[in-house]
Amino acid sequence: MNRQDQLKQIADPSFLWDILVIGGGATGLGIALDAVTRGYKTLLVEQADFAKGTSSRSTKLVHGGVRYLAQGDVKLVREASIERGRLCRNAPHLVKNQTFIIPIYNQWDRLKYTIGLKVYDWISGKLTLGSSVFISRKKTIEALPGVKADGLLGGVLYHDGQFDDSRLAINLVQSILEKGGCAINYTKVTGLLKNKEGKIDGAIVEDTETMVKYGIKAKVVVNATGVFVDDILQMDNAAAPKSICVSQGVHIVLDKKFFPSSHALMIPETSDGRVLFAVPWHDKV
Ligand SMILES: Cc1cc2nc3c(=O)[nH]c(=O)nc-3n(C[C@H](O)[C@H](O)[C@H](O)COP(=O)(O)OP(=O)(O)OC[C@H]3O[C@@H](n4cnc5c(N)ncnc54)[C@H](O)[C@@H]3O)c2cc1C
Repeated sequence: MNRQDQLKQIADPSFLWDILVIGGGATGLGIALDAVTRGYKTLLVEQADFAKGTSSRSTKLVHGGVRYLAQGDVKLVREASIERGRLCRNAPHLVKNQTFIIPIYNQWDRLKYTIGLKVYDWISGKLTLGSSVFISRKKTIEALPGVKADGLLGGVLYHDGQFDDSRLAINLVQSILEKGGCAINYTKVTGLLKNKEGKIDGAIVEDTETMVKYGIKAKVVVNATGVFVDDILQMDNAAAPKSICVSQGVHIVLDKKFFPSSHALMIPETSDGRVLFAVPWHDKV
């Protein structure tokens, strides 16, 4: 990966790219890789480093959509399971099988999560990472040190994937370049170009290290800027209404000694209605 070589490729203002992707997170990189492998002349620009946005700050779960099952969205669970299987196959060096345990304190939850996770296994079919099982109170306490023992009946253990989100992003960049595409970090879109009919046909891209600006012409411009999507839309139309409503989660990184387990803890609903995970991650949790 040589950034200077990549910059040379965008120096010619008359060059017409098939696709310009704005945003070097999971979405933009996935789109760029898909495009370049279909033979399109593809350029991706990222204003910071690759995966600097949400794509390096996820909970690192390649889940088959267990949360969507609770909402009854079986189609989405199936789709997520297929994607999980695909990622395990394509990037086995970045995805690992992670066991999760839901502590159970009443018979209703035991029934609900045992059956629910069996359905989850069943929907995943051949792509399942392992069967879910109800484990005893003793085994749950051994597996989840510090779990509230008072009233504990046992736990439901199930399998999902864990992955390294930023390394996956870097591997995607490498694949884009190997396939002949161009992906440049620290290049920010500061404006859009339009043809005589007012149709977007490119963008102004600024190298944020040198402040040099480039005019990029492209047949298609893809806005893959995540939570910044409206900033780009407003470059097209300053009066464009907000199109997304952002949501957020909180990650607290603690020493492994706080939760010395190889299993992850999953609380499907806290007293204030959140989903809570305690997930081992390197020597932290
Ligand atoms: C708390 C939390 C936990 C999550 N956990 C998981 C999980 O465990 N598993 C999972 O699969 N998903 C998870 N997700 C969802 C996942 O992280 C996101 O769906 C994904 O990262 C979105 O990627 P993106 O490429 O759309 O956005 P981003 O990663 O934000 O990428 C957008 C990029 O666009 C760039 N950009 C913006 N403006 C410009 C510009 N003008 N010019 C050039 N570049 C620009 C930004 O710098 C940024 O890098 C989680 C999300 C949150 C919030």
